[in-house]
Amino acid sequence: MIGILGGTFDPVHYGHLRVALEVKDLFDLDELRLIPSATPPHRSQPAASAPMRSDMLTLAVTHQPGLRVDVRELARPGASYMVDTLQSLRQDFPDQPLLLFIGTDAFNHLTRWHRWQNLFDYAHLVVMTRPGVSIQQNDDFFNDKLAGDKQELAQTIAGKLFFQPVTQLDISATAIRRMIAEKQNPGFLLPDAVIEYIKQNRLYGSEEPVT
Ligand code: ATP
Repeated sequence: MIGILGGTFDPVHYGHLRVALEVKDLFDLDELRLIPSATPPHRSQPAASAPMRSDMLTLAVTHQPGLRVDVRELARPGASYMVDTLQSLRQDFPDQPLLLFIGTDAFNHLTRWHRWQNLFDYAHLVVMTRPGVSIQQNDDFFNDKLAGDKQELAQTIAGKLFFQPVTQLDISATAIRRMIAEKQNPGFLLPDAVIEYIKQNRLYGSEEPVT
């Protein structure tokens, strides 16, 4: 089974990396692909360019077997719709279950996504939940797709919905960008190699690197 975690990763941080590792192990995935959104359709445009966000992801996962960066959205012009990404992954993996992992917040807004119902044609959807955050979708469309347990996801290649509690560290890219702009130290919120890259490239209003 192949897992997919999309996001802006502006920049990638330990909140992303912790859940990536956790779901890779929980679902016994052959690999978990982190897919940076080149041109996110549903939010303000990222501060760092797509190639730079991909570089930071690559630095972050270099020593983690089973986690890899997939840059296919960078090659596609226009808005980066997840349904197109899944369709392209399905062409690469015609017979394997694909698991798309999304946070509860994203799931609550899923019906605003481009061709959202077709996501299930290409992949299973796994919603990463955390205590205290309620699920706001209560549609028959979703109820019909609910898997009883995670073993069910291995039996078909797409079309199921599953809720998986995960460790959600209280870290956000927004807070990290703000800290950097305010000259605070973001250490221990994201990998040192990524912090170094941010400094070298003066991203997010960081100071000139000390030479
Ligand atoms: P921003 O603050 O810029 O909105 P973000 O930190 O929320 O960014 P995204 O790139 O938007 O990061 O997130 C990509 C995916 O990772 C989403 O599915 C999101 O739900 C999940 N995610 C983000 N932060 C965390 C976290 N701290 N713990 C677990 N999952 C997270």
